Amino acid sequence: MSKIQYFIESYGCQMNDHDSEKIAGMLQKMGYDRAKNKFDADIIIFNTCCVREHAELRVFGNVGALKKLKDENPELINAVCGCMMQQQEVAKKLFKRFPYVNIVFGTHCLDKLPDMITQARLGNRVISTEDGNEIIEGLPIIRQNKYQTSVTIMYGCDNYCTYCIVPYVRGHERSRDPENIIAEVEGLVKDGYKEITLLGQNVNSYNGRNGEVDFPKLLHMVADTGIERIRFMTSHPKDLSPKLIEAMASIDAVCNHIHLPVQSGSDRILSRMNRKYSSSDYLKLVSELRNAVKGIEITTDIIVGFPTETDEDFNDTLNIVKAAYFAAAYTFMYSPRAGTPAAKMAGQIPQNIKSERLKILNEYQASTLQNGNLKYIGTTGNVLVEGCDTRSECKQAFGKLSNFKMVYFPGDESLIGKTVNVEIISAKNNSLIGTEVKA
Ligand code: SF4
Repeated sequence: MSKIQYFIESYGCQMNDHDSEKIAGMLQKMGYDRAKNKFDADIIIFNTCCVREHAELRVFGNVGALKKLKDENPELINAVCGCMMQQQEVAKKLFKRFPYVNIVFGTHCLDKLPDMITQARLGNRVISTEDGNEIIEGLPIIRQNKYQTSVTIMYGCDNYCTYCIVPYVRGHERSRDPENIIAEVEGLVKDGYKEITLLGQNVNSYNGRNGEVDFPKLLHMVADTGIERIRFMTSHPKDLSPKLIEAMASIDAVCNHIHLPVQSGSDRILSRMNRKYSSSDYLKLVSELRNAVKGIEITTDIIVGFPTETDEDFNDTLNIVKAAYFAAAYTFMYSPRAGTPAAKMAGQIPQNIKSERLKILNEYQASTLQNGNLKYIGTTGNVLVEGCDTRSECKQAFGKLSNFKMVYFPGDESLIGKTVNVEIISAKNNSLIGTEVKA
């Protein structure tokens, strides 16, 4: 008899991707196999995101398309989970509107999935969206990658940025015990992993063992496991301490890259966003990071069109883009999320202005970076190889430097997962071209 097959479609951030790895772990433990695509699957799970309206609309569209599959295979189990389903009203609406969805569950009920599947196989429909604040340890994880992976160090967020739905769907900040994190990383080192990303909504406020272990101390403990590379995300500028900068500078394994969302360059908008720093506080951090951490590259997130944003506010954002010199900026149009303070603010910006500002910002960011990578020509650095582009005549291996710069160099699939010393010989705006330096 063939095994039951599952298919998971994950939307949104790395945290969601990591939850999907835990879902896969539970399903494999139940004896199920991963399907190549949703048409072969007996169980389809959509792990949703509610941070942006666009992702939500896509989920509703994709859930609608499941009807045809259910008609063809009445035994098919359809499940929808994730942040969107932690919003009780949205979960109830979806459950009612799509009778061919068997299971709906929120982010706090992940560990209940095996029981819910058993119920669904008995012909029951299940919805579970209750809140919960405990940390569930020991869930099995099927990691997508054999050399690079994520380790969650904390859950939830207490910052309540006025545009953000996350604190309402992921709950209050809870930090995992450092012992559990270290045991997980030690296991990964033993399994040959080279790079980990420590995950949390705001890792800088990690507070292990009720304040005994802060984030810089955790970085030292993680580095002691012998892991080759440590990344972390996301960092809130208001909690980026001198001690953390010192840890980044002094621990070899910590990569010289930080993702530090600025969101806006206007102090008035930052205050309305409840970000608790000013543009000059932010630029001071940028300068401290650049002075202390050799070769650091900084990436960021920016929102345009926040309620009441004027041309002058938007210009302040362009100014901070120029002053901070970001290696990459992930830019978004503000999208109102029901239940957040900003959604109710007067002065919502028309869509055409938001689109125009986004276009200007992206062009400005690209022009700021023009020729900025030329400084890497002639330097050498270690690349952790992530893949191989076989489309060109000469196969190109690719991967990232510690500072998150993408590098391409002649090489084949055998290099995937290896750390290779590469000399940079030319530069494009978004990547570097190199050649392997043999020892
Ligand atoms: S820090 Fe702000 S933007 Fe980030 S998850 Fe928390 S509330 Fe949302």
